[in-house]
Amino acid sequence: MMLRPTRRRPSVAILGAGAGGIALGVALSRAGYDYTIYEKSDGVGGTWRDNTYPGARCDVPSHLYSFSFALNPWWSHTYASQPEILAYLERCADQFGVRPHVRTNTAISEARWLDLDQQWELRSESDEVFRADVLVSGLGMLNVPSIPDIPGASQFRGRVFHSSRWDHDVSLEGKRVASIGTGASAIQYVPAIAPVVEHLDVFQRTPIWITPRIEGPFTPTQQQRFARVPFAARLHRWKIWWSYERATFATDSDQTRMQTDLARSYLERKIDDAELRAKLTPDFPVGCKRPLISRDWLPALTRPNVQLVTERICEITETGIRTADGEHHDFDVLIYGTGFKANEYLSTIDIRGRGGRRLHDDWRDGAEAYLGLTVPGYPNLFLLYGPNTNGVNSILFMHEAQVHYVMSALRSLTRHGRGALEVKPRVARRYNDRIQAAMGGTVWTAGCDNYFRVPSGKVVTQLPYSGGRYWLRTRIFDRWRYRSTRGSPEQARGRRTR
Ligand code: NAP
Repeated sequence: MMLRPTRRRPSVAILGAGAGGIALGVALSRAGYDYTIYEKSDGVGGTWRDNTYPGARCDVPSHLYSFSFALNPWWSHTYASQPEILAYLERCADQFGVRPHVRTNTAISEARWLDLDQQWELRSESDEVFRADVLVSGLGMLNVPSIPDIPGASQFRGRVFHSSRWDHDVSLEGKRVASIGTGASAIQYVPAIAPVVEHLDVFQRTPIWITPRIEGPFTPTQQQRFARVPFAARLHRWKIWWSYERATFATDSDQTRMQTDLARSYLERKIDDAELRAKLTPDFPVGCKRPLISRDWLPALTRPNVQLVTERICEITETGIRTADGEHHDFDVLIYGTGFKANEYLSTIDIRGRGGRRLHDDWRDGAEAYLGLTVPGYPNLFLLYGPNTNGVNSILFMHEAQVHYVMSALRSLTRHGRGALEVKPRVARRYNDRIQAAMGGTVWTAGCDNYFRVPSGKVVTQLPYSGGRYWLRTRIFDRWRYRSTRGSPEQARGRRTR
């Protein structure tokens, strides 16, 4: 009998133990790959570990904001809270054997493709060096806080922190607090802290549309039904999924008009004061900025101890903020609800590809990737939640589609025994030209500032078609759109015999 040569499976390095890293870890563990997840913090959970601000809750329904391979019948609420989601992700990491592969407190700052060895070399901030055949980023786009460069910021003598690095040692009880920003994070923590602070100034640069959150706790009977009849849980999940699939992003669609009308009438119902209402009314359609849902944001702004400040911030002083009208706002604690460097993908890592090319140079006009996953010039590099994969469906659903694609690519690499895979430049070019062409007429380009776009106006975060279509595109690894690169003969021999 002829023995087949043993084919070595590529080793995999994953950056980040958030939902993407965990999803890939589960698939790799199941398939028996050798892999390590490098995580800068001391545990798993990613953004759900970082964002512990009061009131933190997901705004995608919990039955869809979970993995299809780990349905959770026990979600307590339509929209799960941060502690519940973190506990869920931790449970997944334990249950599927991912945790032993996670190397915590290890922030990777450099990744270099070694042309001869056909491997990635990673360097951590503390100068440790690691190697792997395949590198997968699970960093996503909401991991680096954005703190605006406001004149005088360093002079402030009170306590300061960003919403995603909430300082729980600072008691806000009875304090005068200022919060900058009115995005998805602020609309959750402002109503949560307003009842305990003495006074809260909310600095708004641009108003946002809000529609009411339709929500409630799941009853024990519902939970037990989901547990006893898994099909019921799955059906519930797919109903939510389908409601996302029907969303359109066209500025002139009936749906956009209807949602904008709904948000306007909700604002009219909740805010009696015409002056305050005018300040809270955007001049762009729903969706131009991320759609936001809340039942307590608008009521919080009508509290006697909360003031909405819409004057431009001029400077931060030792004791507060001076606005363009000359008024000085005194406070003890400053909270930045100013979001993330969302469109600066992988900004914390210097990634060098074939021939030493730099990813940040290649992306100087805005990040782009084929299917948001692969980049020409960067062999065996995959990005989870990469460019143009946001905004259409639960990101956990998108992660699973991406993981499926990466696993098919890994199988292809294993089959071929050596070499590396690199998407062909013309394939990536054609894909991204189509993506950008589809951005015209979408709400994301409807005349507001948002983090979806880079200064040139290119939309780098959003996917202009449905999650279902993306899922279909990632079902098979389209190897013919990739070229193989070969390393040195020694490396090739090593791969064949190892
Ligand atoms: P964000 O949506 O980007 O909002 C940042 C806010 O800070 C905006 O109101 C922005 O004003 C303001 N800002 C930035 N620089 C400023 C400056 N120099 N002066 C005054 N205001 C300034 O950030 P985020 O609220 O942290 O949310 C980011 C993303 O995280 C969300 O879009 C979402 O994807 C995710 N998230 C999800 C959830 C959830 O599921 N529940 C919760 C929180 C966050 P402008 O509008 O004028 O730029």
